[in-house]
This record gives sequence, structure tokens and C-alpha cells, in this order.
Amino acid sequence: MSRLVIVANRVPDPKEQGAVAGGLAVALKDALAKRDAMWFGWSGKTAPETATTPVEARVGQTAYARLDLGQDDYRHYYQGFSNAALWPVLHYRLGVARFDRLDWIGYQRVNAAFAAALAPLLRPDDTIWIHDFHLFLMAKELRALGCKQRIGFFLHVPFPPRAVFTGLPHAHDVLAAMDAIDAIGMQTEDDAENLRGALISHGHAGAAMRVGAFPIGIDATGFANLASRQATQKEVTRLRDSLAGRSLAIGVDRLDYTKGLPQRIAGFGALLSRFPKHRGKITFLQVAPVSRGDVAQYRALRRELDESVGRINGQMAEPDWAPIRYITRAVARPTLAGFMRMARIGIVTPLRDGMNLVAKEFVAAQDADDPGVLVLSRFAGAAQEMEGALLVNPLDPDDIAEALDVAMDMPADERLDRWARMAAIVRANTAAVWCRRFLAALEGVEDVAEAGRAG
Ligand code: ADP
Repeated sequence: MSRLVIVANRVPDPKEQGAVAGGLAVALKDALAKRDAMWFGWSGKTAPETATTPVEARVGQTAYARLDLGQDDYRHYYQGFSNAALWPVLHYRLGVARFDRLDWIGYQRVNAAFAAALAPLLRPDDTIWIHDFHLFLMAKELRALGCKQRIGFFLHVPFPPRAVFTGLPHAHDVLAAMDAIDAIGMQTEDDAENLRGALISHGHAGAAMRVGAFPIGIDATGFANLASRQATQKEVTRLRDSLAGRSLAIGVDRLDYTKGLPQRIAGFGALLSRFPKHRGKITFLQVAPVSRGDVAQYRALRRELDESVGRINGQMAEPDWAPIRYITRAVARPTLAGFMRMARIGIVTPLRDGMNLVAKEFVAAQDADDPGVLVLSRFAGAAQEMEGALLVNPLDPDDIAEALDVAMDMPADERLDRWARMAAIVRANTAAVWCRRFLAALEGVEDVAEAGRAG
């Protein structure tokens, strides 16, 4: 089998793989165990200038080639065009986006620099798989350097309708770069349709035919085991004892403006004010570690949440009960799994999300004898598969409140029935299956759109 070259913005230190393996590393674990592979991308460190030669390492049959980013490139490529322009636009948030010509220039520069650093390491029969919105232009840059290998691309985030996407300066250049890609994977059929529409209207009908939907999954068994093993661990026991028999609702998200956190907090407040019978009967634990804290929009969000949590707790709390517990520190993954298993309700209400893995993790973590209820945004990719969830409009706090009320009163047999339908999908469409399906499309076993539908 040919070597698989995984290209991602961020490649974790191979020495720390086990401990802090990122989501992508977990998703690709199976594929990487079976064949020769190389990871290529940013080391996560900055230096005065972007490196031209990557630092190489090897663990078993997997090679790593990682580059430090120059300060200027970090600012314009990563913080600028990737995080302040592409991230909001791809999540339908034109109003939050910030555009600056220097950011676009930095984005082009880094995509070209990555291609130039990777090209000399490539073998003629490698399969190259590029991940996510940071690297939209890289396939084109590789082609410009004469690379003839198969190149696949997967977008982990949503793709908005054409009218939104074209609000991005240089949207046309981003679309044109897709001519260089052999298989373009999206999370949902809606995202695939949006991208096809944008490509066709800009004269790239050929690329549009290579777009398919490949919804990503999790290691369902691994997460379920993690959750059940935690049941007797200290942190989980402490949380259980502290609830004193009350139901737990849980939210787990990076602190990001796409996650719908203000509306979710307001929704929980509305549950308590509109349905007073739940007062004192439910505790909402929101874990939301700060991310991208150096971007202004993220700091403003944090202030807003501090205030709204404080207001609701101030209004509703009793001497022996505070409705909301809010943690902005990181919580270890096994502990989170144990918390999810204990929860009666999982609240996953992003305003837009490519997939949302937390929704699938919540389902995997449940106790099959007494599963909890998932309250899920209809605008998360996961909503396409998780039809056993209570689907809500995440912009509407009253809708969230009504779903929480239904979830609190849901009889055990309905909880079980809804959960079993979701669990079957989470167990069937795992990360390993996602990976196999995309690679089958890229490596020419089936045509891309068909392979996407086959699941
Ligand atoms: P995103 O990629 O936008 O952060 P996802 O829900 O798709 O959203 O993936 C987030 C991943 O990070 C999940 O695996 C989740 O368990 C993990 N995660 C999210 N929030 C936390 C947290 N507070 N502490 C630890 N892990 C978290």
C-alpha cells in the first residue's frame, strides 16, 4: 500500500502523542496503524521566521515533519486569515469576520511555504490528505511545484451558502484552488451542496463533481469504556456526591462564539423561570476552557458569559443549590467522559458546527440501562445523524428551555429508545469507518459522491 501523508495545520509533538493526541490524531489512529504514514504541518511553536526545512522524527512506521511558524506568519496566516476571517465566514458569521489584505498575503505565503517544504519529502506514489480550512491553497501550490500524487482534502467545519461565502475577500481564489484536489470531503450533504453551488457558479464544475459528504465519527467503544471506567474515580464521585440526588445537565465546549453559549445559558435560565417545578431539581455544569484568548471577540464572549452566569445564579440560587456551575479551566478527557455518563441531559447547542464530536461522545458515554437525553442544535452536522436527539434552534432560548423541560420529564422507555437509535449510528460510523470511506474515494475505489452516500 502507498504511503499516506497527512497534512494538517497543527501536528502534535510525536513524543506527546499518547497524552495530548488531538482530535485528528485520534480519528486517524486506525488508518495510521495499518500503513506507512507521515504527518506534516505546523509544530505549534513560533520562531522569528517560518522554517524552510521541517524537523523530522519517527515513531514506529509513522514519520513526522513539523515546521515552526514565523511571528508574522502566525499573526497573518493563523490568527488573521484562518481564525479571524475564514473561521467566522465558514460558520455563517460574516458580521464577526475581520479582513485585512496582509492576512490574505500571509495565508498565501504559508500555504506556499508548506508546499515547498513538503514537496522534497514526497515519494511518487504517496497519497496526500490535507485537512481543514487553514490549508485551502496547499494542493494548488503542490501542483505548481510539479507534484502528481493523489491529493485529498477534508473540511472539518461547515461550508455556508454561496451568498455568504462570497463575502470573504478572495473567495474566488479559494474556490479556484480546489481544481487541484482529487477528492473533496465535507461533513454533511448540505455542506457538500453549498460548496458545489459555489464552485459551479465560479466556473469550477469539474471540482464540484469531486465533492462528497463523509461525516466524521469517534472511537465509540473507546469512549464508552473510558466513561464507564471513570464511574468510581475521585472527581466523578465528588461531582455525584455534590449533586445530592439532583439531575445533572452538562455542556462541554471550547469557549467559542460558534458554540451558542450565551443562548444556552439564557435557555437554562428560561427553563427555571418558565418551568419553576425544575428549580432545585437540576444542576447545569458547563465546562468551557478558554481558547484563542488573544482574539478580541473571544475576550468579549468570556465577559458576557461571566455576567450572565452570575446573573442567573444570583436570581435563582438557594443557599444549598446554585443552578449553574461554570468551569473555564481544562478538564481531563477521562473525567469529562465520566461526567457525561452521569448526566441526565447533554446540552449541545452550537449556532453552527461542522459535526460536533461532543454530541457523539455524550451518546457513547451513556449507561445503556439508564441513558440520558441529548438536546442538540439542528445546525450541528451531528443533527443529520442523531435523529433520536431533541433538536432545537440554538438561537432561541425558549426553544432550548422547552426541550430541557421535555428532557427532564422524559420517561425511561422513551429515553432508552431515542438513545439506542443514536448509539447504533455512533457505533457504526466510527472515526475508522470515516477514514476508510474517504480514502476509498480518494484512492479510486469508488466515485467520491457515491462513497460519501454509501454510509
Ligand atoms: P471543536 O472541534 O469545534 O472544538 P468538537 O465538538 O467537534 O468541536 O470537538 C471538540 C473535542 O474537544 C471533543 O473531542 C471534546 O471532547 C473535546 N473538548 C471540548 N471541550 C473540552 C473541554 N472543556 N475539555 C476537554 N476536552 C474538550
